[in-house]
Amino acid sequence: SIPLGFFAGIGGLSKNGILVKGSTVIESLSTLQQMVFDKTGTITQGKFGVSKILGEQKAIEYAAYAESNSTHPIAKSILDAYKEEVDTKRIQEVEEIAGHGIRIVLDGETILVGNTKLMDQFNIKYPVIDELGTLVYVSKNNEYIGTLVIEDQLKQDSKQAIQSLKKAGIKNCVMLTGDRKAVADHIASQVGIDSVYSECLPNDKVNVVESLLPQGNLGFAGDGINDAPVLALADLGFAMGGVGSDAAIEAADVVIMDDNLNKIPLAINRSKKTMGIVK
Ligand code: ADP
Ligand code: MG
Repeated sequence: SIPLGFFAGIGGLSKNGILVKGSTVIESLSTLQQMVFDKTGTITQGKFGVSKILGEQKAIEYAAYAESNSTHPIAKSILDAYKEEVDTKRIQEVEEIAGHGIRIVLDGETILVGNTKLMDQFNIKYPVIDELGTLVYVSKNNEYIGTLVIEDQLKQDSKQAIQSLKKAGIKNCVMLTGDRKAVADHIASQVGIDSVYSECLPNDKVNVVESLLPQGNLGFAGDGINDAPVLALADLGFAMGGVGSDAAIEAADVVIMDDNLNKIPLAINRSKKTMGIVK
């Protein structure tokens, strides 16, 4: 039978907007040693603003048409910046390529919208761009058209949450991202992350988590569809309830309803107290 103290523990967490799926989660929370985070939407707000368009202005129109089919945080920001209606009748084909971007056929022409990995995959030549921001490259019929510079912002509570985690005994705080190194390192240094893995494909994220597992009880927090495999692999998966995809919420052991990262150290500290009571 489940000791009564667990119910008080689970109830107390739910009052704080932390949903825990089962009593074993409390025990696992109380012994957590490592915490791995996805960047976009987890450490950052996942709300990008388009700060510059380099190359042809048409790049924003092509990008908006491609992104009209995506639920990625990048997609919403590009559609917001475009402002005009997207006429979906102009689109003949759509393919979202995880960790790369999107390919569409628009008015019979092939449009690619994504990162340098996507451009490399299709052998498209693009200029070197010296900007600190996430870069979205656009090509049409195998020719480079332009680049959107988009910028995300830290969540207000990220830095404090990492500090509190360290106080709660987490010895390793790690960030994983598909974004480029310059952006990843910049974000990580602002919040006090111990190690950063950037330019990860979805499968690279799985490999990193697998390699860290032997070093101690590991939690992973993420928001995206791509994150479901790592959420399942971690000893404890945390999903962001507000911005998280259904797949991530489904795969998680703990759901943070308001996306506030401070709820993770709170859950750890509460669980330690609960375990003190129930043991
Ligand atoms: P993360 O959540 O760590 O940013 P993703 O795997 O979701 O990782 O994305 C990795 C990278 O792939 C993004 O930084 C971006 O460069 C590119 N990308 C993914 N999806 C899209 C999209 N819909 N539009 C443009 N670029 C994308
Ligand atoms: Mg993501």
